[in-house]
Amino acid sequence: MKVVCTSDTHGMHNYLKIPDGDLFIFGGDISETGRIEELIEFNQFLGELPHKYKIITDGNHDLSPEKVSKLITNAYYLQHELLEIENLRIWGTSWQFWLSDQIQRKKTQANPLEFWKEVPAGIDILITHFPPYGIGDLTRSGSHLGSKDLLSALRRIKPKYHIFGHVHEGYGIFKESFNNFEITLINASAIIGFGSKMNPPIVFTL
Ligand SMILES: [Zn+2]
Repeated sequence: MKVVCTSDTHGMHNYLKIPDGDLFIFGGDISETGRIEELIEFNQFLGELPHKYKIITDGNHDLSPEKVSKLITNAYYLQHELLEIENLRIWGTSWQFWLSDQIQRKKTQANPLEFWKEVPAGIDILITHFPPYGIGDLTRSGSHLGSKDLLSALRRIKPKYHIFGHVHEGYGIFKESFNNFEITLINASAIIGFGSKMNPPIVFTL
């Protein structure tokens, strides 16, 4: 299956040339300002893509999961759930602020270790908006914005591919070995600053 992935278009998706493929994956940050019109327009864009399957998750710039699930009708919207497509097992997790912020986590008493335990091991593709710590997560100012909990969850989940965005400067393909199991990590962030130059979608076959 030919997989085409991108993320973080922030309203600029029409400037991207999307290669043909079987499965289109979007890692969140559809919007720039979080307006309903941006989601409606993005849904139309999804509807026009030729890919047989389309999967999205949301990002911190998007509206609430309730609004996203209501307005995005032309793709599977994964919030923290498994989707099986043909022979592929794909898990998507939507943006959860508390997962990447210690202060917010204390307020909600949420437990990220329990949260990640819900993801089954051995899946083919994991989609999150934010990166794991230390991989594709380095900002221009030199700080790592990735999640340490997600990094340790990856050691157990061992997806073949992990697709994310959020840190736009971290765009690229990374290979990491965890106990001799190689995971391909893709930061698919499209936007570079806010000009019209954008990173192309990343394509792989699975
Ligand atoms: Zn973004």
